[in-house]
Amino acid sequence: MQTVVMKFGGTSVADAARCLSAAQLVVQEKLKGSRVVSARGDTTDDLYKLAYEISDNPSRRELDMLVSTGEQISVALMAIAVHKLGHEAISLTGAQMGIITDNSFTKARIAGISPTRVIKELEDGKIVIAAGFQGTTMGLEITTLGRGGSDTTAVALAAALQADMCEFYKDVDGIFTADPRIVPGARKLDSISHDEMLELASTGAGVLHSRAIELAKKFRVPLSVRSSFNSSPGTVIIAEVPKMESVIVRGAAINDNEAKVTVLGVPDQPGIASKILEKVCSRNINLDMIVQNVGRDGKADVTFTVMKTDVRDALDVCNQAAKELGAEGVTADDNISKISVVGVGMRSHSGVAAKMFKALADQKINILMISTSEIKISCVVDKARGADALRAVHAAFELDKPEDERSYAGIKHLPGTKIEE
Ligand code: ASP
Ligand code: MG
Repeated sequence: MQTVVMKFGGTSVADAARCLSAAQLVVQEKLKGSRVVSARGDTTDDLYKLAYEISDNPSRRELDMLVSTGEQISVALMAIAVHKLGHEAISLTGAQMGIITDNSFTKARIAGISPTRVIKELEDGKIVIAAGFQGTTMGLEITTLGRGGSDTTAVALAAALQADMCEFYKDVDGIFTADPRIVPGARKLDSISHDEMLELASTGAGVLHSRAIELAKKFRVPLSVRSSFNSSPGTVIIAEVPKMESVIVRGAAINDNEAKVTVLGVPDQPGIASKILEKVCSRNINLDMIVQNVGRDGKADVTFTVMKTDVRDALDVCNQAAKELGAEGVTADDNISKISVVGVGMRSHSGVAAKMFKALADQKINILMISTSEIKISCVVDKARGADALRAVHAAFELDKPEDERSYAGIKHLPGTKIEE
Protein backbone atom coordinates (compact mmCIF):
# COMPACT_ATOMS: atom_id res chain seq x y z
CA MET A 1 0.00 0.00 0.00
CA GLN A 2 1.19 3.50 -0.80
CA THR A 3 1.91 5.98 1.93
CA VAL A 4 1.22 9.59 1.05
CA VAL A 5 1.75 12.65 3.21
CA MET A 6 -0.59 15.48 2.21
CA LYS A 7 0.26 18.90 3.61
CA PHE A 8 -2.36 21.62 3.75
CA GLY A 9 -1.29 25.21 4.36
CA GLY A 10 -3.14 27.73 6.49
CA THR A 11 -5.33 29.12 3.71
CA SER A 12 -6.42 25.63 2.62
CA VAL A 13 -8.11 25.06 5.99
CA ALA A 14 -9.06 28.65 6.78
CA ASP A 15 -12.80 28.09 7.31
CA ALA A 16 -15.33 25.28 7.71
CA ALA A 17 -15.99 24.92 3.98
CA ARG A 18 -12.30 24.73 3.11
CA CYS A 19 -11.68 22.30 5.95
CA LEU A 20 -14.35 20.04 4.51
CA SER A 21 -12.98 20.24 0.98
CA ALA A 22 -9.46 19.50 2.26
CA ALA A 23 -10.98 16.57 4.17
CA GLN A 24 -12.55 15.38 0.92
CA LEU A 25 -9.14 15.34 -0.80
CA VAL A 26 -7.72 13.43 2.13
CA VAL A 27 -10.54 10.92 2.06
CA GLN A 28 -9.98 10.37 -1.68
CA GLU A 29 -6.44 9.30 -0.81
CA LYS A 30 -7.65 7.26 2.13
CA LEU A 31 -5.88 4.06 3.11
CA LYS A 32 -2.72 5.57 1.71
CA GLY A 33 -1.08 7.17 4.67
CA SER A 34 -0.58 10.08 7.00
CA ARG A 35 -1.61 13.71 6.66
CA VAL A 36 -0.12 16.95 7.88
CA VAL A 37 -2.05 20.14 8.49
CA SER A 38 -0.79 23.66 9.15
CA ALA A 39 -2.37 26.48 11.20
CA ARG A 40 -5.56 28.09 9.99
CA GLY A 41 -5.25 31.36 8.10
CA ASP A 42 -3.17 33.90 9.97
CA THR A 43 -3.45 32.19 13.33
CA THR A 44 0.29 32.15 13.95
CA ASP A 45 0.68 35.85 13.13
CA ASP A 46 -2.26 36.72 15.37
CA LEU A 47 -0.86 34.72 18.27
CA TYR A 48 2.56 36.35 17.95
CA LYS A 49 0.86 39.74 17.85
CA LEU A 50 -1.04 39.04 21.05
CA ALA A 51 2.18 38.13 22.84
CA TYR A 52 3.98 41.28 21.65
CA GLU A 53 1.02 43.43 22.71
CA ILE A 54 1.76 42.32 26.26
CA SER A 55 5.55 42.39 26.19
CA ASP A 56 8.39 43.51 23.90
CA ASN A 57 10.38 40.55 24.95
CA PRO A 58 8.18 37.52 25.58
CA SER A 59 9.88 34.35 26.74
CA ARG A 60 10.64 32.12 23.77
CA ARG A 61 9.45 29.06 25.64
CA GLU A 62 6.06 30.66 26.23
CA LEU A 63 5.91 31.83 22.61
CA ASP A 64 6.25 28.22 21.48
CA MET A 65 3.63 27.11 23.99
CA LEU A 66 1.37 29.76 22.46
CA VAL A 67 1.92 29.46 18.71
CA SER A 68 1.93 25.65 18.65
CA THR A 69 -1.79 25.86 19.50
CA GLY A 70 -2.61 27.20 16.02
CA GLU A 71 -1.78 23.88 14.38
CA GLN A 72 -3.58 21.99 17.14
CA ILE A 73 -6.80 23.83 16.37
CA SER A 74 -6.41 22.97 12.66
CA VAL A 75 -5.74 19.27 13.11
CA ALA A 76 -8.66 18.76 15.48
CA LEU A 77 -11.02 20.55 13.07
CA MET A 78 -9.65 18.55 10.14
CA ALA A 79 -10.22 15.30 12.02
CA ILE A 80 -13.79 16.39 12.80
CA ALA A 81 -14.27 17.17 9.09
CA VAL A 82 -13.03 13.71 8.07
CA HIS A 83 -15.36 12.08 10.65
CA LYS A 84 -18.23 14.08 9.21
CA LEU A 85 -17.47 12.50 5.82
CA GLY A 86 -17.83 9.10 7.44
CA HIS A 87 -14.17 8.08 7.72
CA GLU A 88 -11.84 7.34 10.57
CA ALA A 89 -9.21 9.90 11.45
CA ILE A 90 -7.15 10.92 14.45
CA SER A 91 -5.26 14.15 15.06
CA LEU A 92 -1.85 13.99 16.75
CA THR A 93 0.48 16.62 18.20
CA GLY A 94 4.21 16.75 17.52
CA ALA A 95 4.89 15.05 20.86
CA GLN A 96 2.38 12.28 20.16
CA MET A 97 4.09 11.64 16.81
CA GLY A 98 7.48 11.33 18.47
CA ILE A 99 8.96 14.42 16.81
CA ILE A 100 11.95 15.17 19.03
CA THR A 101 13.74 18.51 18.60
CA ASP A 102 16.66 20.35 20.17
CA ASN A 103 15.72 23.02 22.68
CA SER A 104 16.11 26.17 20.56
CA PHE A 105 12.66 27.55 21.21
CA THR A 106 11.00 29.29 18.19
CA LYS A 107 13.54 27.80 15.75
CA ALA A 108 14.04 24.24 16.87
CA ARG A 109 15.63 21.58 14.67
CA ILE A 110 14.25 18.07 14.44
CA ALA A 111 16.70 15.70 16.11
CA GLY A 112 14.77 12.49 15.39
CA ILE A 113 11.36 10.97 14.87
CA SER A 114 9.97 7.81 16.44
CA PRO A 115 6.66 7.49 14.63
CA THR A 116 5.45 4.35 16.44
CA ARG A 117 2.07 5.87 17.26
CA VAL A 118 1.60 7.19 13.72
CA ILE A 119 2.36 3.77 12.25
CA LYS A 120 -0.02 2.07 14.68
CA GLU A 121 -2.88 4.42 13.78
CA LEU A 122 -2.20 3.98 10.06
CA GLU A 123 -2.17 0.21 10.49
CA ASP A 124 -5.54 0.50 12.24
CA GLY A 125 -6.81 2.06 9.01
CA LYS A 126 -7.05 5.61 10.31
CA ILE A 127 -6.11 8.78 8.52
CA VAL A 128 -3.57 10.51 10.74
CA ILE A 129 -3.90 14.28 10.88
CA ALA A 130 -0.51 15.47 12.07
CA ALA A 131 0.12 18.88 13.60
CA GLY A 132 2.86 20.63 11.65
CA PHE A 133 5.47 23.08 12.94
CA GLN A 134 5.76 21.60 16.45
CA GLY A 135 7.86 19.11 18.33
CA THR A 136 9.01 18.31 21.81
CA THR A 137 12.38 18.26 23.51
CA MET A 138 13.68 15.23 25.40
CA GLY A 139 12.57 17.15 28.50
CA LEU A 140 8.97 17.32 27.15
CA GLU A 141 9.04 21.05 26.43
CA ILE A 142 6.94 22.13 23.42
CA THR A 143 9.00 23.68 20.61
CA THR A 144 8.27 25.08 17.14
CA LEU A 145 10.40 24.79 14.01
CA GLY A 146 10.45 28.45 12.88
CA ARG A 147 8.09 30.26 10.51
CA GLY A 148 6.88 28.06 7.69
CA GLY A 149 8.07 25.01 9.64
CA SER A 150 5.12 22.77 8.90
CA ASP A 151 6.57 22.08 5.43
CA THR A 152 9.53 20.61 7.28
CA THR A 153 7.26 18.48 9.47
CA ALA A 154 5.59 17.06 6.36
CA VAL A 155 8.86 16.05 4.72
CA ALA A 156 10.37 14.72 7.94
CA LEU A 157 7.33 12.57 8.50
CA ALA A 158 7.39 11.39 4.88
CA ALA A 159 11.06 10.44 5.31
CA ALA A 160 10.44 8.66 8.62
CA LEU A 161 7.48 6.72 7.17
CA GLN A 162 9.32 6.09 3.89
CA ALA A 163 6.30 7.58 2.17
CA ASP A 164 5.96 7.31 -1.60
CA MET A 165 5.12 10.98 -1.98
CA CYS A 166 4.78 14.16 0.04
CA GLU A 167 2.13 16.40 -1.53
CA PHE A 168 1.83 20.09 -0.71
CA TYR A 169 -1.63 21.54 -1.25
CA LYS A 170 -1.28 25.28 -1.68
CA ASP A 171 -3.19 28.27 -2.96
CA VAL A 172 -1.08 28.15 -6.16
CA ASP A 173 -1.24 25.60 -9.00
CA GLY A 174 2.42 24.58 -8.73
CA ILE A 175 5.92 25.98 -9.23
CA PHE A 176 6.15 28.50 -12.08
CA THR A 177 9.01 29.67 -14.30
CA ALA A 178 8.62 32.99 -12.42
CA ASP A 179 6.05 34.64 -10.16
CA PRO A 180 2.98 34.90 -12.46
CA ARG A 181 1.84 38.05 -10.65
CA ILE A 182 4.92 39.81 -12.04
CA VAL A 183 5.47 37.89 -15.27
CA PRO A 184 2.15 37.25 -17.03
CA GLY A 185 3.67 34.67 -19.43
CA ALA A 186 5.09 32.49 -16.63
CA ARG A 187 4.41 28.76 -17.14
CA LYS A 188 3.76 26.04 -14.62
CA LEU A 189 6.60 23.51 -14.45
CA ASP A 190 5.83 19.79 -14.67
CA SER A 191 8.98 18.86 -12.80
CA ILE A 192 12.01 20.42 -11.17
CA SER A 193 15.00 18.92 -9.34
CA HIS A 194 15.52 19.24 -5.59
CA ASP A 195 18.66 21.34 -6.23
CA GLU A 196 16.91 23.74 -8.58
CA MET A 197 14.04 24.12 -6.14
CA LEU A 198 16.48 24.81 -3.31
CA GLU A 199 18.19 27.55 -5.32
CA LEU A 200 14.84 29.04 -6.33
CA ALA A 201 13.56 28.94 -2.74
CA SER A 202 16.66 30.71 -1.47
CA THR A 203 16.46 33.30 -4.23
CA GLY A 204 12.95 34.41 -3.39
CA ALA A 205 10.45 31.93 -4.84
CA GLY A 206 8.85 31.33 -1.47
CA VAL A 207 6.53 28.44 -2.31
CA LEU A 208 8.27 25.87 -0.09
CA HIS A 209 10.45 26.24 2.96
CA SER A 210 14.16 25.70 2.16
CA ARG A 211 14.72 23.40 5.09
CA ALA A 212 11.93 21.12 3.88
CA ILE A 213 13.53 20.87 0.44
CA GLU A 214 16.96 20.15 1.94
CA LEU A 215 15.44 17.34 3.93
CA ALA A 216 13.63 15.99 0.86
CA LYS A 217 16.90 16.02 -1.06
CA LYS A 218 18.80 14.25 1.71
CA PHE A 219 16.23 11.48 2.09
CA ARG A 220 15.23 11.46 -1.59
CA VAL A 221 11.57 12.16 -0.83
CA PRO A 222 9.63 13.06 -3.99
CA LEU A 223 7.48 16.14 -3.43
CA SER A 224 4.63 17.68 -5.33
CA VAL A 225 3.11 21.14 -5.14
CA ARG A 226 -0.49 21.48 -6.29
CA SER A 227 -3.62 23.50 -5.71
CA SER A 228 -6.05 22.60 -2.98
CA PHE A 229 -8.81 24.30 -4.97
CA ASN A 230 -8.59 22.46 -8.31
CA SER A 231 -7.38 19.09 -9.55
CA SER A 232 -4.65 20.23 -11.96
CA PRO A 233 -1.58 18.01 -11.56
CA GLY A 234 0.86 20.55 -10.12
CA THR A 235 4.67 20.28 -10.14
CA VAL A 236 6.78 17.36 -8.93
CA ILE A 237 10.11 18.01 -7.22
CA ILE A 238 12.35 15.00 -7.64
CA ALA A 239 15.97 13.85 -7.54
CA GLU A 240 17.82 15.02 -10.65
CA VAL A 241 17.76 12.83 -13.76
CA PRO A 242 20.28 13.40 -16.62
CA LYS A 243 17.62 14.58 -19.06
CA MET A 244 16.98 17.62 -16.87
CA GLU A 245 20.20 19.21 -18.11
CA SER A 246 18.68 19.77 -21.53
CA VAL A 247 16.67 22.64 -20.03
CA ILE A 248 19.19 25.43 -19.47
CA VAL A 249 17.10 27.68 -17.27
CA ARG A 250 14.29 26.13 -15.25
CA GLY A 251 13.05 29.32 -13.63
CA ALA A 252 13.75 32.90 -12.59
CA ALA A 253 13.08 34.65 -9.31
CA ILE A 254 13.14 38.08 -7.72
CA ASN A 255 14.05 38.80 -4.12
CA ASP A 256 13.26 42.22 -2.63
CA ASN A 257 14.15 41.28 0.93
CA GLU A 258 17.86 42.03 0.87
CA ALA A 259 19.91 45.16 1.41
CA LYS A 260 23.50 45.88 0.46
CA VAL A 261 26.10 47.19 2.83
CA THR A 262 29.44 48.65 1.67
CA VAL A 263 32.53 49.31 3.75
CA LEU A 264 34.38 51.99 1.80
CA GLY A 265 38.10 52.49 1.44
CA VAL A 266 39.42 49.67 3.57
CA PRO A 267 43.19 49.15 3.47
CA ASP A 268 43.80 46.59 0.69
CA GLN A 269 45.71 44.05 2.79
CA PRO A 270 45.37 40.33 3.46
CA GLY A 271 42.89 39.52 6.23
CA ILE A 272 40.81 42.70 6.06
CA ALA A 273 37.73 41.12 4.47
CA SER A 274 37.81 38.30 6.98
CA LYS A 275 37.98 40.78 9.89
CA ILE A 276 34.88 42.62 8.67
CA LEU A 277 32.90 39.49 7.88
CA GLU A 278 33.84 37.77 11.14
CA LYS A 279 32.33 40.69 13.01
CA VAL A 280 29.14 40.53 10.95
CA CYS A 281 28.84 36.79 11.48
CA SER A 282 29.42 37.13 15.22
CA ARG A 283 25.98 38.82 15.34
CA ASN A 284 24.40 35.80 13.60
CA ILE A 285 23.78 37.81 10.47
CA ASN A 286 23.53 35.72 7.35
CA LEU A 287 25.49 37.06 4.36
CA ASP A 288 24.48 36.34 0.83
CA MET A 289 26.53 37.96 -1.94
CA ILE A 290 30.02 39.29 -1.21
CA VAL A 291 32.07 41.46 -3.58
CA GLN A 292 35.39 43.23 -3.14
CA ASN A 293 36.34 45.67 -5.86
CA VAL A 294 39.83 45.89 -7.34
CA GLY A 295 42.04 47.84 -4.97
CA ARG A 296 43.24 51.27 -6.03
CA ASP A 297 45.76 53.44 -4.15
CA GLY A 298 46.01 50.73 -1.51
CA LYS A 299 42.27 50.90 -0.72
CA ALA A 300 39.32 48.68 -1.64
CA ASP A 301 35.55 48.58 -1.04
CA VAL A 302 33.89 45.49 0.43
CA THR A 303 30.18 45.08 -0.35
CA PHE A 304 27.81 42.35 0.80
CA THR A 305 24.09 41.72 1.03
CA VAL A 306 22.09 40.77 4.12
CA MET A 307 18.41 40.36 4.88
CA LYS A 308 16.73 43.76 5.29
CA THR A 309 15.84 42.85 8.86
CA ASP A 310 19.56 42.54 9.67
CA VAL A 311 20.72 45.76 8.07
CA ARG A 312 20.73 47.87 11.25
CA ASP A 313 22.83 45.32 13.07
CA ALA A 314 25.16 45.00 10.09
CA LEU A 315 25.65 48.78 9.91
CA ASP A 316 26.38 48.87 13.59
CA VAL A 317 29.16 46.26 13.48
CA CYS A 318 30.55 47.60 10.21
CA ASN A 319 30.85 51.11 11.65
CA GLN A 320 32.84 49.65 14.53
CA ALA A 321 34.99 47.62 12.14
CA ALA A 322 35.54 50.66 9.91
CA LYS A 323 36.90 52.63 12.85
CA GLU A 324 39.21 49.84 13.95
CA LEU A 325 40.53 49.19 10.44
CA GLY A 326 40.83 52.82 9.38
CA ALA A 327 38.25 52.47 6.59
CA GLU A 328 36.66 55.56 5.04
CA GLY A 329 33.03 54.84 5.88
CA VAL A 330 30.02 52.55 5.61
CA THR A 331 26.91 52.86 3.44
CA ALA A 332 23.74 50.80 3.15
CA ASP A 333 21.11 50.58 0.41
CA ASP A 334 17.89 48.64 0.73
CA ASN A 335 16.43 49.78 -2.58
CA ILE A 336 17.69 46.73 -4.40
CA SER A 337 16.22 43.62 -6.02
CA LYS A 338 18.08 40.41 -6.67
CA ILE A 339 17.17 38.66 -9.92
CA SER A 340 18.24 35.04 -10.30
CA VAL A 341 18.04 32.39 -12.99
CA VAL A 342 18.37 28.73 -12.01
CA GLY A 343 18.85 25.55 -14.01
CA VAL A 344 20.95 22.37 -13.83
CA GLY A 345 21.65 22.77 -17.57
CA MET A 346 24.07 25.61 -16.74
CA ARG A 347 26.61 23.00 -15.72
CA SER A 348 27.02 21.85 -19.30
CA HIS A 349 26.37 25.02 -21.30
CA SER A 350 28.16 28.31 -21.77
CA GLY A 351 26.75 31.72 -22.64
CA VAL A 352 24.06 31.76 -19.96
CA ALA A 353 25.50 34.66 -17.96
CA ALA A 354 26.21 36.68 -21.12
CA LYS A 355 22.61 36.20 -22.23
CA MET A 356 21.27 37.36 -18.87
CA PHE A 357 23.50 40.45 -18.81
CA LYS A 358 22.53 41.32 -22.39
CA ALA A 359 18.82 41.05 -21.53
CA LEU A 360 19.36 43.55 -18.71
CA ALA A 361 21.56 45.84 -20.84
CA ASP A 362 18.93 45.93 -23.61
CA GLN A 363 16.47 47.30 -21.04
CA LYS A 364 19.13 49.77 -19.80
CA ILE A 365 19.12 48.13 -16.39
CA ASN A 366 22.35 48.62 -14.51
CA ILE A 367 23.84 45.61 -12.69
CA LEU A 368 25.12 46.46 -9.20
CA MET A 369 26.40 43.05 -8.08
CA ILE A 370 26.75 39.59 -9.59
CA SER A 371 27.14 36.17 -8.03
CA THR A 372 27.00 32.67 -9.43
CA SER A 373 26.83 29.06 -8.31
CA GLU A 374 27.08 25.98 -10.48
CA ILE A 375 23.38 26.19 -11.35
CA LYS A 376 22.45 29.82 -10.59
CA ILE A 377 23.29 33.36 -11.68
CA SER A 378 22.09 36.31 -9.60
CA CYS A 379 22.27 40.03 -10.35
CA VAL A 380 21.43 42.85 -7.98
CA VAL A 381 19.69 45.78 -9.64
CA ASP A 382 17.94 48.96 -8.57
CA LYS A 383 14.62 48.02 -6.95
CA ALA A 384 12.68 50.38 -9.21
CA ARG A 385 13.72 48.20 -12.18
CA GLY A 386 13.42 44.83 -10.41
CA ALA A 387 10.15 43.69 -12.01
CA ASP A 388 11.33 44.87 -15.48
CA ALA A 389 14.53 42.92 -14.96
CA LEU A 390 12.67 39.73 -14.08
CA ARG A 391 10.44 40.08 -17.15
CA ALA A 392 13.42 40.78 -19.41
CA VAL A 393 15.33 37.74 -18.20
CA HIS A 394 12.25 35.52 -18.43
CA ALA A 395 11.74 36.60 -22.04
CA ALA A 396 15.42 36.23 -22.97
CA PHE A 397 15.45 32.57 -21.91
CA GLU A 398 12.07 32.03 -23.63
CA LEU A 399 10.60 30.69 -20.41
CA ASP A 400 7.13 31.57 -21.70
CA LYS A 401 7.48 28.78 -24.31
CA PRO A 402 7.25 25.01 -23.76
CA GLU A 403 10.68 23.59 -22.88
CA ASP A 404 11.21 21.82 -26.22
CA GLU A 405 10.36 24.90 -28.29
CA ARG A 406 13.06 27.19 -26.92
CA SER A 407 15.87 28.20 -29.25
CA TYR A 408 18.43 29.33 -26.63
CA ALA A 409 20.24 31.45 -29.23
CA GLY A 410 23.86 32.08 -28.28
CA ILE A 411 24.07 29.22 -25.79
CA LYS A 412 26.51 26.38 -26.48
CA HIS A 413 27.12 22.91 -25.12
CA LEU A 414 30.43 22.85 -23.34
CA PRO A 415 32.80 20.45 -25.08
CA GLY A 416 33.11 17.17 -23.27
CA THR A 417 29.67 17.28 -21.66
CA LYS A 418 26.92 15.06 -22.88
CA ILE A 419 23.22 15.60 -22.50
CA GLU A 420 21.18 12.44 -22.32
CA GLU A 421 17.77 12.65 -23.92
N1 ASP B 1 1.99 28.20 11.23
C1 ASP B 1 3.40 28.36 11.14
C2 ASP B 1 3.73 29.68 10.46
O1 ASP B 1 2.81 30.39 10.05
C3 ASP B 1 4.04 27.22 10.44
C4 ASP B 1 3.62 27.07 8.99
O2 ASP B 1 2.65 27.64 8.56
O3 ASP B 1 4.33 26.35 8.29
O4 ASP B 1 4.86 30.00 10.31
MG1 MG C 1 1.14 29.18 8.89
